[in-house]
Amino acid sequence: MVSHPPNVRYLTGFTGSNGILFVSAAQTVLFTDPRYELQAHEECNCRIRIVRGSTWDGVWKHAARKPGRLALEAEHVSHAIWAEAARRLGRGATPKPLGGVVERLRRVKSPEEIDAIRASARLCAAAFRQAARRFRPGMTENDAAAEIEYRMRKLGAEGAAFETIAAAGARAALPHARPGAATLEKGQPVLVDMGANLAGYMSDMTRVAHFGPPPREFARLYDAVLEAQQAGLQAVRAGVPARRVDAAARNALKARGLDRYFTHSTGHGVGLEIHEGPRLGAKSGETLEAGMVVTVEPGIYLAGKAGIRIEDTVLVTLTGAEILTPVSKELMVLES
Ligand code: ZN
Ligand code: ZN
Repeated sequence: MVSHPPNVRYLTGFTGSNGILFVSAAQTVLFTDPRYELQAHEECNCRIRIVRGSTWDGVWKHAARKPGRLALEAEHVSHAIWAEAARRLGRGATPKPLGGVVERLRRVKSPEEIDAIRASARLCAAAFRQAARRFRPGMTENDAAAEIEYRMRKLGAEGAAFETIAAAGARAALPHARPGAATLEKGQPVLVDMGANLAGYMSDMTRVAHFGPPPREFARLYDAVLEAQQAGLQAVRAGVPARRVDAAARNALKARGLDRYFTHSTGHGVGLEIHEGPRLGAKSGETLEAGMVVTVEPGIYLAGKAGIRIEDTVLVTLTGAEILTPVSKELMVLES
């Protein structure tokens, strides 16, 4: 049983919010509710069962007639559903937890998926350029984030890939700062972390801009992060262990005595979800393959002082990394 919506979408093309897929050697059946009857027939070519009431109820009735083991996605099924499975399947079938099977398939993208992510990243970059032109001192972080999300929608995105981050001044030291009433100020930086959801495919990019020329210390920190990001990008290639990309970025910061301020991993896969495999961290056991799409995003966070992160979404190729988020990484100086 595949119930995690991005996994259902990956296997069938079904984009509705309620779909449970039964896959066996003999048949594939999508269970959904009457709201999605037309849509399911348009999007999928597997068998479709429309269930009134609880969709899981239809699933149990179907599965109970088929003896054997029924695998459920352990990471995506609630305890309540698991308990129901054990009770409803009766003597015939037994539930079995299964982890990451579809997620593993999703790590290497098809040419169509790569095109979709490329388009999403291009849209993200265009929206950033349009929005950044409108950044002014006195604007709140909320204003900046709203401007970015508005531009993405206007350019055709279904929405933001995640809650847009616009962090003013030292608030950027919180890696996942939520935009609020803090204002963008003259002589201060602003960090933007944004992504688009275009036709279900995500993109992810972080840039830092500064109102007026930055103080020397800030420019020095920015250069260090940029150097780390370049080192990470240079390490990306098919066949390379993912943790080597993390090590490349981390070592570049270490050479400047800044690695202790880099408190997260270097990157993650991007696709139907904003965070998916592979993980580019110090402990990652995965190896990069051509067709994977990942982020490279080192950052440093000095509490109360500054936060700088530079992030691109890139395609892993046989020879290196193709950057999909084509926005200059020279520190963007905004007029104040
Ligand atoms: Zn990001
Ligand atoms: Zn990211």
